[in-house]
Amino acid sequence: MKVAPGSTIGIIGGGQLGRMLAVAAAQLGYKCHVLDPDPDGPAAQVSAQFTRAAYDDLGALKAFGDSVDVATYEFENLPVGPLEVLGDKLRPSARSLAIAQDRAKEKAFIEQCGGRVAPWRAIATAEEVNAAAAELGCPVVLKTRRWGYDGKGQAWAHAHEQAASAWSAIGEEPAVAEAGIDFFAEFSVIVARWADGRHALWDSAQNEHGEGILRRSTVPCSDEVAVQVAEAREAALRIAEALDHIGVLTVEFFASRDGPLVNEIAPRVHNSGHWTIEGAVTSQFEQHIRAICGLPPGSTELVGRGAVMDNLIGDDVNRWPALFGDPALHVHIYGKGERRPGRKMGHVTRVL
Ligand code: ADP
Ligand code: MG
Repeated sequence: MKVAPGSTIGIIGGGQLGRMLAVAAAQLGYKCHVLDPDPDGPAAQVSAQFTRAAYDDLGALKAFGDSVDVATYEFENLPVGPLEVLGDKLRPSARSLAIAQDRAKEKAFIEQCGGRVAPWRAIATAEEVNAAAAELGCPVVLKTRRWGYDGKGQAWAHAHEQAASAWSAIGEEPAVAEAGIDFFAEFSVIVARWADGRHALWDSAQNEHGEGILRRSTVPCSDEVAVQVAEAREAALRIAEALDHIGVLTVEFFASRDGPLVNEIAPRVHNSGHWTIEGAVTSQFEQHIRAICGLPPGSTELVGRGAVMDNLIGDDVNRWPALFGDPALHVHIYGKGERRPGRKMGHVTRVL
């Protein structure tokens, strides 16, 4: 399926990832149609068309599907069933989403693909939480199977006695228990894959998190991380292949003393790839549009020596006068009305 410039790309989800996809699509000559329940979201502000609808509104999804030439999603917490009305216009497919949005399915799938993950158990009852904490040892982190992001839906037990309170902190929902990993760094592999199996990879960013939220991504990564990238890329490519993924796929890794462990996958462009907008010849956003439209891959080479991307979280965005005052800084502000603590409001990138 080749989708020519002038066509309309549907984007399900109206956040900042949708906004940056729409900007990239516009540059290539496409129009975007965003579907989201919130009419004032970041993506709707920069798109030609907008449908305000719930993600499970079948009638709205059907009309949306009829109005676009290809559709994609920028958000993982969508019910998968209703997406079927989009048929093969949906890229990546609903299967990539179904696996990535359920932490237990995700981990089992990664292991099937030969990727290594932290020791884990699926848990659904207090007894299973207890058994998992005993078998995995502490510290252990409980993560709801679904609906988590930016560290939400997670609770740690640093000692066995805390297992019950961690279980109640995550709402006693079906979850995974995961051994705490004493990693020395985190990094990500971002791959774009085409329907015919072609793929493109960017240099891996080293990622620093605070309170479960990405704070900074740096390219190039440190030397001790760099030696793990080849193995990580192999795992990421096997996962992309097994999903028959079309578009961008992100795989987050813990760099442990035993080598790279997959933390999680995202069937989409990713915060740790925002540096590619100015730091690489082709950004993750443009590449995603190229891949889902069947255009050839763009170069993923670095423009300079690398880049540093810092997120603007909550009140960080109030620093905008000083940020704009630094002439070398690329400032991105997402146009979110409400400034909440922990909310990603924008980011800044410095090309090195
Ligand atoms: P989210 O979907 O919210 O991004 P993650 O599973 O990626 O959730 O967790 C967010 C962050 O929490 C990770 O990037 C890492 O810093 C920390 N973390 C998560 N799981 C573990 C673990 N098993 N061991 C150590 N740190 C972890
Ligand atoms: Mg994560």
